Amino acid sequence: MTENRAIASIKNSNGMAKILIPTPLRQFVDGHDTVEVNSGTVGDALRELVAVHPQIERNLFNDQGKLRSFVNVYVDDEDIRYLDREGTALSAGSTISIVPSIAGGATPAPVIDVAEPALPELSNEEILRYSRHLILPEVGLEGQRRLKGARVLMVGTGGLGAPLGLYLAAAGIGRIGIVDFDVVDETNLQRQVIHGSKDVGRPKIESAAETMQDINPRLVIDKHPTALTSDNALEILAEYDVVVDGTDNFPTRYLVNDACVLLGKPNAYGSIFRFEGQATVFHHQGGPCYRCLYPEPPPPGLVPSCAEGGVLGILPAVIGSIQATEAVKIVLGKGDSLSGRLLLYDALNMRFRELRLRRNPDCPVCGDSPTVRELIDYQQFCGIPQQAAEDAAQERMPEISPSDLKSRLDRGDDVFVLDVREPHEFEIARIPGTTLIPLGTLPKHVHELDSTADIVVHCKSGVRSGKAQRLLKEMGFSRVTNLAGGILRWSDEVDPSIPKY
Ligand code: ZN
Repeated sequence: MTENRAIASIKNSNGMAKILIPTPLRQFVDGHDTVEVNSGTVGDALRELVAVHPQIERNLFNDQGKLRSFVNVYVDDEDIRYLDREGTALSAGSTISIVPSIAGGATPAPVIDVAEPALPELSNEEILRYSRHLILPEVGLEGQRRLKGARVLMVGTGGLGAPLGLYLAAAGIGRIGIVDFDVVDETNLQRQVIHGSKDVGRPKIESAAETMQDINPRLVIDKHPTALTSDNALEILAEYDVVVDGTDNFPTRYLVNDACVLLGKPNAYGSIFRFEGQATVFHHQGGPCYRCLYPEPPPPGLVPSCAEGGVLGILPAVIGSIQATEAVKIVLGKGDSLSGRLLLYDALNMRFRELRLRRNPDCPVCGDSPTVRELIDYQQFCGIPQQAAEDAAQERMPEISPSDLKSRLDRGDDVFVLDVREPHEFEIARIPGTTLIPLGTLPKHVHELDSTADIVVHCKSGVRSGKAQRLLKEMGFSRVTNLAGGILRWSDEVDPSIPKY
């Protein structure tokens, strides 16, 4: 097992402990996935990390020097959040895991009772179709009838929703609700295998329902072609026994969680980012909810979305299938669910790890004295208005259009064009004559730039270059302009031979 290899490597390192750095934070520690430390407590170890890699500090600690609440710290796979986490002692060879949230009850949730005693009968045709299930003692005729009587809600038909929809339909779930208002686009096809090339431009809900219905014509599908909101969530979720959360944004994550807790529904959760995934079951059999794990969302923009950070196309197949498995097990009432366990999957190193989760007695939703008793404004909770305000501030920063920049370059103006994307993006497409310094490394290389020069910053679409522009301005650069719309707009307006990605 890889675990054994990890332990062996610690023993060889003179009793040092190590900190595992998750993908979103590696950009702040020169790309390392592991940092070795010599400290005796968790607090000292994290301060040692910050001393060597100061850029990671604001991601781990707030202005008061306290560990941020959306960052969970584990020592040897044990959640130390409700202990004196900074004072937790490290022994030789301890492994500290930092697990930030990725864009992913006081009274025990009732055991799912699928419309008993009137479980639906199976026809001879269904008995043949599900024969490989029926001969499993853990499923059998009764289990298959439970699946037929079950009602499962899928929130989202994207990367996670694709395997979910396919396998839940095939497994014989009787009724599946789908919530989605998005349209299939070309960039979805690399991972959202429930949709095909012919579906580009169609509503995802139509395309997904068609595929699922083809797999299982007996399946009843409820289409909810809408965004899930605080106004409709309780009404929609109330109709189902199990909710499977396959969304891609924090406001909907918290909305689904709170609605599940308020209604007493289990939530099969999964999230993906680049090469890593997380899965668990929230609010089931007295286990924790999403807010127990992540009491508050990360500030907008801190954790990149899959659109910004990328995602391995096959990754959601694994995580979505785990969610589907958990949903089926909950309906069957068999096996050990992932409730109380966070499963972490690292596709790049092909490694599964498991961390224990506990219900937080002080959780505002599922704790002993809950303060959240109805759905709230989740956009506001996740700081989205704040993001809008930042964007508005960004609007006032100087911008240049691609065609204006092209004219200036053609005139021979002395303009320094700085590309702040990642090297692999630079390889896909670049504007000739530009200099590449990825945003994450900009603070380290800033002294190489002339602070009085006329600088135009660009990225893919203008968001990262806006951050770079603000950063440079804070560091005393006076003439920094953002290329509006990035290289995508440059391709549209100046040079269509540059590929868009
Ligand atoms: Zn909770």
